Amino acid sequence: MDFDLTKEQEMIRKEVRKFARKEIAPIAAELDEKEEFSQELTRKMGEIGLFGMFVSEEYEGQAMDYISYIIAVEEIARIDGSQAATIAAGNSLGIGPIFYFGTEEQKLKYLPRLCSGEGLWGFGLTEPTAGSDAGGSKTTAVLEGDEWVINGSKIFITNAASEMTMGVTVQAITGTRESGKPEYSCILVESGTPGFKAVPMHKKMMWRASNTAELYFDNVRVPKENILGNKGDGFHQMLATLDGGRLSIGAMGLGGAQGAYDLALKYAREREQFGQPISKFQAVAFKLADCAMEIECARNLLYKACWLKSHHRPYEKEAAMGKLYASEVMGRVADHAVQIHGGYGLMKEYNVERFYRDHKLLEIGEGTSEVQRIVISRYIGC
Ligand SMILES: Cc1cc2nc3c(=O)[nH]c(=O)nc-3n(C[C@H](O)[C@H](O)[C@H](O)COP(=O)(O)OP(=O)(O)OC[C@H]3O[C@@H](n4cnc5c(N)ncnc54)[C@H](O)[C@@H]3O)c2cc1C
Repeated sequence: MDFDLTKEQEMIRKEVRKFARKEIAPIAAELDEKEEFSQELTRKMGEIGLFGMFVSEEYEGQAMDYISYIIAVEEIARIDGSQAATIAAGNSLGIGPIFYFGTEEQKLKYLPRLCSGEGLWGFGLTEPTAGSDAGGSKTTAVLEGDEWVINGSKIFITNAASEMTMGVTVQAITGTRESGKPEYSCILVESGTPGFKAVPMHKKMMWRASNTAELYFDNVRVPKENILGNKGDGFHQMLATLDGGRLSIGAMGLGGAQGAYDLALKYAREREQFGQPISKFQAVAFKLADCAMEIECARNLLYKACWLKSHHRPYEKEAAMGKLYASEVMGRVADHAVQIHGGYGLMKEYNVERFYRDHKLLEIGEGTSEVQRIVISRYIGC
């Protein structure tokens, strides 16, 4: 066994940490307060190579291994969940399906701009009446001549309504299977296509500086070549995309837990009560010890899942475990971190309350904690 990171992975951690502290930390609270998605910051993240991290060089990606990508998401999340969401969704949900399932033409058309961070792409799966039950989607795509005609709507779609958004991948019913169940396909829809509307969603409790959208498709016509892979592959593509996406949500949990812990440890060493730093009280020290232990466990579990993926070994069970565990660890750590800050923990200027809020999405997005437990219980033979 080898627990050491490679020189390249260590370098990624160092550089992304430096970037996050310099460029994101000073404005994260303000963007959160204003509920503002920053194009400038997104472009800067593109400039240092945070998009297309696992995409090969022929499409102008960074050609890195999966652990490097996960480390980058972790380091951004250590400072700010919203920017980490832009990166995680940009890579796993926006770029990933096009890279893994797209035709050569689609990859050459879209990936270079997406990998440079000049453009963003959304992944539209969730619908108002179909969340955990993704097989209950109602959006349809009917082939008329040489065009797909799409009708329906999607909700909560990350990176889908910014000025940088180039388009979305939409999962739609394209027929009926022999079993009588709907057949799903994924179709690429460019921004600006007539009948396609992306409306930003506001007043979120968390990830307030991330772009979230409702999508409407009203007789949207796209060329039949815009289908991703083969007709009927949509459900499989969606499941494979979510397996990889779980690792990046896990990385957000891990990084967010580390960020909240960093703040709590610093505060506990500085804050004095009864004539000594509160870190000297066993009740506080034990909380921090538990946090340190759980973060270590989450990191090992998540990195193992990434290692399995990088080695083309089955990783789906470990991805579900890593996502579930890391997101719940962040919840416990953020809770302890606020508690350790006392009343100041409830004030925005101390930042720790942002971690407390941002954590909650991680137990809901890309498969709720309940859904992860269903996935894991199936793998262990229940
Ligand atoms: C900020 C944000 C960004 C998002 N980004 C995207 C995106 O980019 N693309 C995208 O497609 N989606 C996205 N989502 C949607 C997200 O993936 C869904 O919210 C999530 O899958 C849950 O679906 P739901 O909200 O409809 O909840 P529901 O599925 O209605 O679940 C409600 C509750 O019922 C429980 N439940 C449901 N079914 C079961 C079951 N079988 N057994 C036990 N309990 C169950 C759930 O665990 C949950 O507690 C995003 C969501 C948010 C909030």
